[in-house]
Amino acid sequence: MSHLHGRVALVTGASSGIGRAVAKALAADGVSVTLAARRVDRLETLRDEIAAGGGIAEATACDVTDEASVQRLFAAAVARFGTLDILVNSAGIVDHTLTEELSLAQWRRVIDTNLTGAFLCSREAFRIMRPRGRGRLIHIGSLSAKVPRAHTAAYTAAKFALDGFSRSLAIDGRAHGIASSIFHPGIVVTELVPTAPDRDPTTFIHVDDAARAIVAMADLPDHVNFVEGTMLPIGMAFLGRG
Ligand code: NDP
Repeated sequence: MSHLHGRVALVTGASSGIGRAVAKALAADGVSVTLAARRVDRLETLRDEIAAGGGIAEATACDVTDEASVQRLFAAAVARFGTLDILVNSAGIVDHTLTEELSLAQWRRVIDTNLTGAFLCSREAFRIMRPRGRGRLIHIGSLSAKVPRAHTAAYTAAKFALDGFSRSLAIDGRAHGIASSIFHPGIVVTELVPTAPDRDPTTFIHVDDAARAIVAMADLPDHVNFVEGTMLPIGMAFLGRG
């Protein structure tokens, strides 16, 4: 039996890719979802799509790097749905600039979006969840939180830090029934990682398959935390050499 029906979630990065697919999948399981990202037109289209399928969603523009914008987002979500049970931090950007050419502004943009954004959103979620004695946070990490690619210094630093951040929140949430977990996907075809239509489909993950796994991490009794998930194509050279 699903634990999700009637629950309330907020998904950042819901205008595209993994966040969009997770929001749709949660709504299909009876979760009321606040959709957050900067491109509100996309969020409104998704909101209408979810409503047409019988689900419930609200679109709220937010820049996760902006403290006031994040605070407005959570206030709007609580005003609309009364509370918050699940936060999915999916907002993220990547950067492949050579380290010696990486500007401080680029470094800050990547850290601010992938790490500080997750902090600002998680802090607001804690403020709502702690008095209720329950809640669940799911951060979208990356294989880059474990094994870096070349020319991704800022992204890799942010994702390693996000992994530590999630563990830290899991400890801070323990006495208050708040679970914090992280999902590390391999190559999922999105706007962040586009792929050619003729590429061998066994070399990447479809976004809906990633979303199903993330929703499974959310669909648990309140006292159970799926601490970490890693998902990659079987053939991907990640777990060992060669
Ligand atoms: P997409 O580019 O498809 O989606 C990224 C989302 O982040 C968009 O909805 C974008 O919305 C949002 N976003 C970016 N900056 C901000 C901001 N400042 N404020 C609010 N929202 C923001 O990428 P994915 O779906 O692939 O990526 C989602 C997460 O998954 C990221 O954290 C990424 O690092 C991670 N990941 C993805 C992998 C993959 O293979 N695709 C692999 C490993 C990790 P908008 O522009 O409208 O604000």
